[in-house]
Amino acid sequence: VRERAPRTLASLDSVSVEVLRNVGPRKANALTQMGITTVLDLVTHYPRRHVDRTRRSALQDMAVGEEATVLARVRSVSARRIRGGRVLVEVTVTDGSAYLTCSFFNQPWRSKQLRRGQEVFLNGRLEMFRGRRRMTNPVVDLIGDRTGKIVPVYPQSDKAGLSTWELGGWIEEALRRAGRLVDPLPDEVRERLGLLDRTAALNRIHFPSSMEEVQGARRRLVLDELLRLQVALVMRRRARQERSLGIRHVVEPAGGEPNLLESFKRSLPFELTPSQEKALAEILSDLASPHPMHRLLQGDVGSGKTVIAVAALLVAVQGGHQGALMAPTEVLAEQHHLAVRELLDGLRVPDPSTLLGERPLRVALLTNRTTAGERAEIHASLRRGQLDLLVGTHALLTEDVRFSSLGVIVVDEQHRFGVEQRAALRRKGAAGGIEPDTLVMTATPIPRTAAMTVFGDLETTVIAELPPGRRPVETVWALGEAEEAKAWRRVMEEARAGRQAYVVCPLVEESEAVQARAATEEFERLRRYELEGATVELVHGQMAAGEKEAAMDAFRAGRVSVLVTTTVIEVGVDVPNATVMVVEDADRFGMAQLHQLRGRVGRGSAASWCYLLGGASTPEAGARLQALVESANGFELAEKDLDLRGEGAILGTRQKGRSDLKLASLRRDRDVVELARSVAEELVQSDPDLSGHPNLRDEIRYTVDEEEERFLFES
Ligand code: ADP
Ligand code: MG
Repeated sequence: VRERAPRTLASLDSVSVEVLRNVGPRKANALTQMGITTVLDLVTHYPRRHVDRTRRSALQDMAVGEEATVLARVRSVSARRIRGGRVLVEVTVTDGSAYLTCSFFNQPWRSKQLRRGQEVFLNGRLEMFRGRRRMTNPVVDLIGDRTGKIVPVYPQSDKAGLSTWELGGWIEEALRRAGRLVDPLPDEVRERLGLLDRTAALNRIHFPSSMEEVQGARRRLVLDELLRLQVALVMRRRARQERSLGIRHVVEPAGGEPNLLESFKRSLPFELTPSQEKALAEILSDLASPHPMHRLLQGDVGSGKTVIAVAALLVAVQGGHQGALMAPTEVLAEQHHLAVRELLDGLRVPDPSTLLGERPLRVALLTNRTTAGERAEIHASLRRGQLDLLVGTHALLTEDVRFSSLGVIVVDEQHRFGVEQRAALRRKGAAGGIEPDTLVMTATPIPRTAAMTVFGDLETTVIAELPPGRRPVETVWALGEAEEAKAWRRVMEEARAGRQAYVVCPLVEESEAVQARAATEEFERLRRYELEGATVELVHGQMAAGEKEAAMDAFRAGRVSVLVTTTVIEVGVDVPNATVMVVEDADRFGMAQLHQLRGRVGRGSAASWCYLLGGASTPEAGARLQALVESANGFELAEKDLDLRGEGAILGTRQKGRSDLKLASLRRDRDVVELARSVAEELVQSDPDLSGHPNLRDEIRYTVDEEEERFLFES
């Protein structure tokens, strides 16, 4: 008999789960509810965990009050109505060492699901109640008649009526019938890295005979997921380098020509740090090259990224092009606009159409709040080339925003723009398929593995040090009234000494309006009590633009000592005289947000403080606040944040398509992320279109979306 050719992921994905023996329309429907429609979906529905049957501790030895996993047999099941018409199902099980009663509230179907004699895994907190062991609403895994030492436990849906043993059975059948799978990883690489082949890995993760086998299988499958992603990213970067045409920006104008960049650097009240110089040099070299720049600029809060971004924009202007800076929120765009205007104050650009042959450099702000009149004027002068820099929000992406020659784009990614939006802005570049240069900034650092994954198609520049003379901000987690009182006393002392403070009001989830109301009440209260006698102002997102600007201006000018605000000041406010930051209900904020808020102080030469108020509502929140107290380093905190929250929050909606990470974790698998990256670099370097690796090539083609496929593989 001729052996069947090994199967590809695509072929597994083309077979419906209904071909499996015990999957009829009803079960198929239940599987669909869990997102499983094809055999590929099924065999990549990985076990949530594995339980080693031979190494279970006995129920009688398990600690009361702690979470426990129990493997036991059902002895009896009873159901009755209790108060309020609810149903209580009580199930008694035993593992031979002791009995355990499980109470299920409002889950009447449990009495059908669980039957005497069945073997089940139960996971929950072990309690003692009237001298008996008990669990309330434990997680139940039916393992049916599965034998074997290691039992896989699958993410299952009780509601959909699927049990872990049914899933296991179908997966077993699917893998058996699939037989050998194509392995996209070259043998040489696989052997060098000591990895399993794909067929073995997939079989072993589902049906291991030891826990060690699980580890080996997992590592291989994790590498597969990450490698697909990295190969696509590396290919994308390379394809762009080779194919896209950019502007050769004039970084050093010929003698006699005005040198805006030099004038700008001379106008700064400080010298660039070595780290900034290095970052700028990298960017300038990109700008001078004929290929468009795609670079990520990372640096801690206050490391001086803005100056560098503005320098890049100026290079465009210097060559007669324009620059755009896009921020994710209006407040942020306004802050950037202000910062840019201040930095560029007094700079002049050549303009042959004027009497003097030059005019002041022009910067405008475009957001959804820009009036129709202003907007029309911006559009017109942009097209005529009379506007040099445009700062704004998504409003920059609308169709009627047309540049005469867009040369450099800076995208501030604080809240993440989609890849599509960055691309939309790039398309506004100069005509003839010439792309502008793009610099992406993040407000606070993101972990290395996340950067590799989310921004893996970009070159990276890191500003590694803060400007000299910064005093570290003393961070205090003020728990309890006495500690809070100290925080307010500090605010008053600093105010009396002529310095300034921010008070950030609790985050209110409901709406901006509710948040604004809460801030207003807090402002009224503080003014009357804790901060009585200080000049206090309020700023929140719902205030009219004029009012808000007036309050901010007063604070900047030092006429106001304390600014009570919502998170509108999160990013971009730069008042070196501010020395105290008080964050109320700090546990409601994310780590990056708190670090960013703290970065608003410690910008001058005076000592500064950051007070985090309130208790921790969860252990994770407590760990977050403690981390902030212990570290002032944004890169360290970013790693810590990844540990605490996992990658979901960091990747956000970026992950999509069939290249989803199902098994890989940026946190747990940091080393494999790096490994996948280096393997991808190596493969693409030696075989740019992967023609020598047809299996890998086909798999990449299959896993990226159509547009990406066209881009990566067009000849
Ligand atoms: P980031 O955007 O990285 O958080 P900013 O660009 O807002 O940081 O810079 C923070 C502050 O430091 C600003 O007031 C800026 O003018 C100032 N600054 C930037 N570079 C330097 C430097 N080399 N020396 C002194 N101060 C600097
Ligand atoms: Mg260039």
